[in-house]
Amino acid sequence: MKSFEPEQFRRLFPLIVSNGASNLSVDKAPSLVYFDNAATTQKPACVIDCYRHYYQNFNANVHRASHNLSAKATTAFEQAREQVKHFINARSIKEIIWSKGTTESINLIASSLGQRVLSSGDELIITVSEHHANIVPWQLIAAKTGAVIKVLTLDKNGRVDLSDFDALLSHRTKIVCCAHLSNVIAKINPIDVLIAKAKAVGAITVIDGAQAVAHFPVDVQKLNCDFYLFSAHKMYGPTGVGVLYGKQLLLESMPPYQAGGEMIEKVSFNEATTFNALPFKFEAGTPNIAGVLAFSEALTFLSQYSTAQMRDYELQLTHYCYQALANISSVQFIVEQVADIPVISFTIKGHHNHDIATSLNSYGIAIRSGHHCAMPLMEYLQISGCLRVSMAAYNTIAEVDYFIRCLIKILEPESTDSDQISVKTNSAEKRHSNSEASTEIIAKLSQVKGWDARHREIMLLGKQLPRLDKTKRNDHTLISGCESLAWLMASKNSQGVYHFHADSDAKVIRGLLVIVLAALNDKTAVQIQSFDIDAYFSRLGLLQHLSPSRGNGVLAIVEKIKEITE
Ligand code: PLP
Repeated sequence: MKSFEPEQFRRLFPLIVSNGASNLSVDKAPSLVYFDNAATTQKPACVIDCYRHYYQNFNANVHRASHNLSAKATTAFEQAREQVKHFINARSIKEIIWSKGTTESINLIASSLGQRVLSSGDELIITVSEHHANIVPWQLIAAKTGAVIKVLTLDKNGRVDLSDFDALLSHRTKIVCCAHLSNVIAKINPIDVLIAKAKAVGAITVIDGAQAVAHFPVDVQKLNCDFYLFSAHKMYGPTGVGVLYGKQLLLESMPPYQAGGEMIEKVSFNEATTFNALPFKFEAGTPNIAGVLAFSEALTFLSQYSTAQMRDYELQLTHYCYQALANISSVQFIVEQVADIPVISFTIKGHHNHDIATSLNSYGIAIRSGHHCAMPLMEYLQISGCLRVSMAAYNTIAEVDYFIRCLIKILEPESTDSDQISVKTNSAEKRHSNSEASTEIIAKLSQVKGWDARHREIMLLGKQLPRLDKTKRNDHTLISGCESLAWLMASKNSQGVYHFHADSDAKVIRGLLVIVLAALNDKTAVQIQSFDIDAYFSRLGLLQHLSPSRGNGVLAIVEKIKEITE
């Protein structure tokens, strides 16, 4: 086993090497600091190379053919299963089912186990800090079966509250679902106690290990859980591969989830179709062979290093970053005390999460803002969202220092910039013609080089947008994006000219709204419909910064304006 040397480890990740800098400076061109590892980690070269190697040397379907190539692929594929069995200390390879990821693993259990064990009035206990992936599949099966979901709350440190668990647990409890660690709070839940208590009333335990397996060893036999689920991509492996560990007896008792090739024993129109043995009963269709082999490569890669040393290093990063953030007076941690894995969630008083995340992005720092697929937790904590820094073993103290320097710079009171672009988009008394306003914006913004500086200009532009009266920021005018709120009001005069008022809770969105309204305000329906907004954003160099899938508010507003004027 190699001793874990952070710098050497880091050099094995091509994306980090080619985009990160060893000499980070606030005043230099931004280079990548990747702090979104709880969403997905970067991949080492050996995992990336594995794809080419597989497709070039032994691409064939598994389990189905008698030729050598298929035998070779099948052997490697099944060896990977054996490796996962050892990785989590399962009893048998029959207990290791491949899936697309944690989400699919939970959907499989909820659907298959749920239809077998749940009936009307039965109860499921789910913690309030679960990822949506460990909530919504259960809500669907509860609606189908009439089962009732009981929500387990947290103690003051953010871990599941065992006294609340005692109060919820009863002979009606059939299933208990809990994350080993929440992807926001990142404290190890007392799942050993939870599992033992659940067992005592005969309940089945489902543990979401998505955030655990990358950071410390997991022994499913020791835990004695019934199910344990995780994704390869959060532990240096590929996307599209996950694991469902389940106790053999339970898996055998469950009906198939999806049907098709591989999961059958015999198919007939004249007698009942019968199903394959475990684990194949739950693996319908051609699996993600290349992904499974790349995951095996990731496990081999990780097994070279001392887990204890890696964990020590990650905790060092966590404590360092936590302390540095704690020194900034406006930082408010989601829960007190440092996390158990390198994930730190916080908000900043007086600042919208989205503004901080986009400002950090302009320095090359990738962190996450929003609800982190844990809306019930946000509701419980009475916040709309938070910021999350999540690190991995290839991150460095220098990166934390750079992140903190940039954050402090962002939080410095803004200077009043006399050269600021001035656009009167919404002022009723002095409206520019919109072609004039949009041309002016294009001319001014194109003089500003680099996303960093352009981002600052956009934030300044946001100041020019008149606030929509509080009473008008309501459910009727709301257009919600994922990470921010935006409101829109429209009026039309007798000449068919539309006038829009828009607002947002995020400064950056307010700036972008100025840009949008400069192009679309005070125009007729025909003019609005024919305006090429994508070309406009593209000329402004904004297109790549507006993510349609995240619906960051601006695009939703553009859509709404087009819809109103259709
Ligand atoms: N559970 C937790 C705790 C997670 O953090 C995530 C992903 O962030 C998931 C489940 C879903 O994982 P995947 O998207 O890989 O299916």
